[in-house]
Order: sequence, then C-alpha cells, then structure tokens
Amino acid sequence: MKSEKGKKVILIIDDEEDILKLCKIVLEKEGFKVYTSQVAKLGIDTATSVIPELILLDIMMPVMDGWEVLKILRAEDVTKEIPIAMLTAKTDFKDKIMGIQEGAIDYISKPFLPQELIFRVKRIFQEIN
Ligand SMILES: [Mg+2]
Repeated sequence: MKSEKGKKVILIIDDEEDILKLCKIVLEKEGFKVYTSQVAKLGIDTATSVIPELILLDIMMPVMDGWEVLKILRAEDVTKEIPIAMLTAKTDFKDKIMGIQEGAIDYISKPFLPQELIFRVKRIFQEIN
C-alpha cells in the first residue's frame, strides 16, 4: 500500500500506550494515516501487511526490543526498504551510532514536543521523496 486516500501511512511501535496515543493524535491531525502497535511482534505483522511509508520504532521494549525488530524488518523482502526512525528515552550516543549502522533513517529522543515530532516526520518524508 503506497498510501490510503492520498495519506502517507506511518506505523508506530512503542510499548508505552500514552506515547502511541499522543503520536497518533498529533500525526493524524497533520494528515497522516497512523497505525500503532504496543507489542513488537504485532508491530512486525502490521508492517508486513500494511507496508507503511515510515516506521517509528521504540528501542526499549519488553520481550523484543527495537534493535531486534529493526533486524527482522530489514531481513524481510517486503519490509526491508521501509524507512525506520528510532524512538528512545536513552540519550546514549552508542544508541545513535548503532541506529545509523543498522540502517535507521533518524533517531528521535523522548520526551519530544508534538511540534518536534511533526517537524522530524515531515523532514524524513522530504528526504526520502
Ligand atoms: Mg519503551
């Protein structure tokens, strides 16, 4: 799916429900179609079936962390080209470097302001289009 009724599709995978709700509201107000998943495994399933144009992926999650999810998505033919931006509360530079090495397109530190999220997402779409 390239887009739904002209809307760009974004998938957010994060174990914190509040973050998912906030991001969904903020990004849908900006005209994006947003799917969310609180569970990493279900997020991978959604990515495979929906083929979003951007994935915002939390690093710190129970059971399966964002790095593992990133590797799985990069290994699958249908998801390997999808741009992925890492979301994390960590301010560790090692994370940022690892994200770049593993093929993440951006790295968004939590907490972020809604305006910052919108700005980052729009900039990513400008870069990839
Ligand atoms: Mg988390």
